[in-house]
Amino acid sequence: MKKGSFQWMKSLNRTIILNKIRTDGPISRAQIAKETKLTPPTVSSLVLELIDKELVIESEQGESVGGRKPTLLVINSERFYIIGLDVGAKKIRAILIDLSGKAIDKTQTPIPSSISNEDLLTLIKGTISNLTSTHEAKEVIGIGVGMHGAVDVETGTSLFAPGLHLRDIPIKKTLEEEFDVPVKIDNDVRAMAFGEYWFMEEKKDENIVTVNIGNGVGAGIVLNGRIFHGKYDLAGEIGHMTIDLNGNPCSCGNIGCWQTLISGPAIAEIAVKQLELHSDGILFKMAEGDLTKIEGKTVFEGAIAGDALSKKILEKTGEYIGIGLTNLIHILNPAKIIIGGGVANASPFILPKIKETILQRGLTSQAKTTPIYCSKLGSYGTAIGACALILGEIFEGDYSAAE
Ligand SMILES: [Zn+2]
Repeated sequence: MKKGSFQWMKSLNRTIILNKIRTDGPISRAQIAKETKLTPPTVSSLVLELIDKELVIESEQGESVGGRKPTLLVINSERFYIIGLDVGAKKIRAILIDLSGKAIDKTQTPIPSSISNEDLLTLIKGTISNLTSTHEAKEVIGIGVGMHGAVDVETGTSLFAPGLHLRDIPIKKTLEEEFDVPVKIDNDVRAMAFGEYWFMEEKKDENIVTVNIGNGVGAGIVLNGRIFHGKYDLAGEIGHMTIDLNGNPCSCGNIGCWQTLISGPAIAEIAVKQLELHSDGILFKMAEGDLTKIEGKTVFEGAIAGDALSKKILEKTGEYIGIGLTNLIHILNPAKIIIGGGVANASPFILPKIKETILQRGLTSQAKTTPIYCSKLGSYGTAIGACALILGEIFEGDYSAAE
């Protein structure tokens, strides 16, 4: 892997100019000065530095307003590259992108079911090396990691990875020693949320929430363009808000958590209970009569195949998701909510019910019509979001310190 020459900027004015070029380029020096309120000489000298660092290039000539045509500036997006990792319970997804977010390459590495801290770190290093070895000439300037479970963002340590039964994995320290580039780590759902924020197609909303609904349920909260962690990195653990006082036990030890009603395993469990009572129908045939074969995904496939029971279960799931999201809207009033994770794949069956529930329960007309949509970043959303952690630092300053 090529590395080294890139210097991270710690100057606010340079960062402001760089971000202006990213969001509004091609743009002239005069226009930057006008819009950032920095003086033209300051802009000129800082732009020179950015060109010297090869982060910015002069592209075309702009429209002349009398006199010489101004030269326009754009980001030199193919000069540097970023690697993003999504370390889940069963596999590591890795992606290599350029500074514009364009994906250059992707890989997947399975994680053995029983693994030590050291072996996991070796596997992560190997994943990065494999990805970069096929792109030798590309200069990587940062590595972002979306790690499942509880993460200490400051030290870049995985405190607890429940899917792997591991604790205290020094990911940032190990990768920085190995690859000699800055490494940033956050919890997987927060990384995904930041990716949604960073790569939002339309005008950026500064306050958004991404809710990941898969084997577990968690949220990534972006407030004022920064990831919100809370005092002890606990913000977003909404899978464990109590929705049903008399509900099912949750893996956390409480009863009736939101997660026990809407996660993939919860959907499967509800289906199995129903099939134990009435063992027929499309879903039963799909499982070939073996109820242990039924997963959340099977119920979704059943719904596609026209199974009435599957559709009913997913509609009920949509209603419970809508109830939790209404609570979230009333607490944070986000500009939009994005749903990701495996359950989001069932959006044709759950989304109408989610919206209907919010429409019924929201306090005001704005609350009732909060935009809800499914993530478009796809299965590499967390890995892309992990890259965005690095992009955020390059273009908008340090986000890791935000509480
Ligand atoms: Zn719980």
